[in-house]
Amino acid sequence: MHELGLCEDIVAAVERRANGRPVARYRVQVGRLHHVHPEAFEQSIEMAAAGGPAEGAVAELVLVPVRVQCTTCGERTEADELISACAACGSMDVELCGGEELMLEFIEYEGA
Ligand SMILES: [Zn+2]
Repeated sequence: MHELGLCEDIVAAVERRANGRPVARYRVQVGRLHHVHPEAFEQSIEMAAAGGPAEGAVAELVLVPVRVQCTTCGERTEADELISACAACGSMDVELCGGEELMLEFIEYEGA
């Protein structure tokens, strides 16, 4: 499960920001290029959070689509996987502009 390393990083970031406060809920945005599966994510978060202030907190996963912008026609294409051609004109001259995100969006604390 490659999700575990990623989830350890997420939980570490949550714990750093929580600074000892008990965490109730948090939301992370993860780009599709990290190839995170929601079920594996949940299990990995549980394992990573065990014994810490984020244990038992609800972790919301938001998967951010892969986005490329065509440098030929300017069209933006969204997809679940990395794509190498523009959906509008077929050009291979595309720039990656989304899908690599790994961001802690918010944290809610117990009793807040
Ligand atoms: Zn194009």
